[in-house]
Amino acid sequence: MDEKQKTVIVVGAGASGLMAAIQAARAGARVTVLDRETKPGRKLLRTGNGRCNLTNTGSLTGVYHGQDRSFAAKVLENWTVADTLRFFEGIGVHTMSRGGWIYPYSDQAESVLQDLLMAAEECGVRIKNREAVERVRKVMGKFKVETATWTYEADAVILACGTRAGIAEKDNTAEPAGIAERMGHTVIRQLPALVPLTVEGAGKLGWAGVRVNGSVRIISGRELIAEESGQLQLTEYGISGIPVFIASSEAVRLLDSKAPVYAELDFFPDGTERELAELLHERHVSTPLRSLRKLLVGLFPEKLIPALTEGSPDLISLAERAKHFRVRVTGHQGAKVAQVMSGGISTDEIDPRTCMSRLIPDLYITGEMLDIDGACGGWNLQFAWSTGALAGRSAGGAEET
Ligand SMILES: Cc1cc2nc3c(=O)[nH]c(=O)nc-3n(C[C@H](O)[C@H](O)[C@H](O)COP(=O)(O)OP(=O)(O)OC[C@H]3O[C@@H](n4cnc5c(N)ncnc54)[C@H](O)[C@@H]3O)c2cc1C
Repeated sequence: MDEKQKTVIVVGAGASGLMAAIQAARAGARVTVLDRETKPGRKLLRTGNGRCNLTNTGSLTGVYHGQDRSFAAKVLENWTVADTLRFFEGIGVHTMSRGGWIYPYSDQAESVLQDLLMAAEECGVRIKNREAVERVRKVMGKFKVETATWTYEADAVILACGTRAGIAEKDNTAEPAGIAERMGHTVIRQLPALVPLTVEGAGKLGWAGVRVNGSVRIISGRELIAEESGQLQLTEYGISGIPVFIASSEAVRLLDSKAPVYAELDFFPDGTERELAELLHERHVSTPLRSLRKLLVGLFPEKLIPALTEGSPDLISLAERAKHFRVRVTGHQGAKVAQVMSGGISTDEIDPRTCMSRLIPDLYITGEMLDIDGACGGWNLQFAWSTGALAGRSAGGAEET
């Protein structure tokens, strides 16, 4: 064994942990990854509905949330989307773009994981499963990483433990960020993000199963908090779909502060309220015998029509309702269903060039453990790849550029 070789322990064999391990090993370190699961990369396999939307070549504007949004931009300057694409091509993942959303050419998350695991093996990374880390301490310049049965020693530790989001466990499962909190780091309250929202009286609206193009506006008081367009999914409990997911982070934070939150749904995104009113009028003139409900067949999904025509509004009010269908948001579907959590370790305490802790030298924190959450479209994985790569390179001893 080379006495000068650095020993790096990575806690978590998910997206950022595997990237970190490969980079640290390539930089010359002896790397062991510890994961509490029976197999590595469990969450990665579920990403993008099993297809893994691994990054995005679109604009970064407004994509990331957190107390310091500039942190994500700095991280992505230091390890860019282009770096990510080059890295994946290099380990075997050929990619394709769907309007800037990048997927493996195989369209299978499984192949992204396989290529990561092969790359890790090729540079000598050891992965140990069923090793849940309970505590990390630094004693006389060396880290002690404790599991139920063993204490590992390391020169550097990378915490890449993710969050509870999307994991079907008991609701009281602790957030992995607690490991860093017990070492002195600050945790910004973690809440589900990219999550379906529950709305008052959804069950009575009869719209469950409807998928419709539209937009959602999140409103609190008189303030427009977020607005997103795309395919809305209407459910027994409320609203879902990519636009709702993207707007949910802000809505959940407001609900948590007990603020009243409303969602305004626009079911006619291709025209103004006036244009819709004119269209309805024309349809009424050409088919005068049709009832209000029948007048809407062919314009809106059938299961949406009763909610729009409830109380038999006139055509002007109907157009207004279809453009501004207002519901009170009462909650969300919880961490188990969420794709990510907002909040996490305060990024004030992390160096964006290396992801090293500013409090504890040679401790690194990556991915979703940090107080950054991204929009749908590959941004969360991109943040995991960037933070993992920067931490791995630095922990492994690579010269900083
Ligand atoms: C259903 C679903 C679909 C998604 N789809 C996409 C998508 O298409 N595109 C996208 O960009 N993002 C997507 N995401 C989000 C993305 O998966 C995460 O943001 C990303 O995986 C975070 O990477 P990470 O390395 O921080 O954590 P993870 O990938 O969650 O890895 C954390 C690892 O740490 C391990 N661990 C935790 N605690 C301990 C401990 N105490 N000891 C040892 N090991 C521990 C876990 O077992 C896990 O393997 C999706 C999420 C979900 C739930």
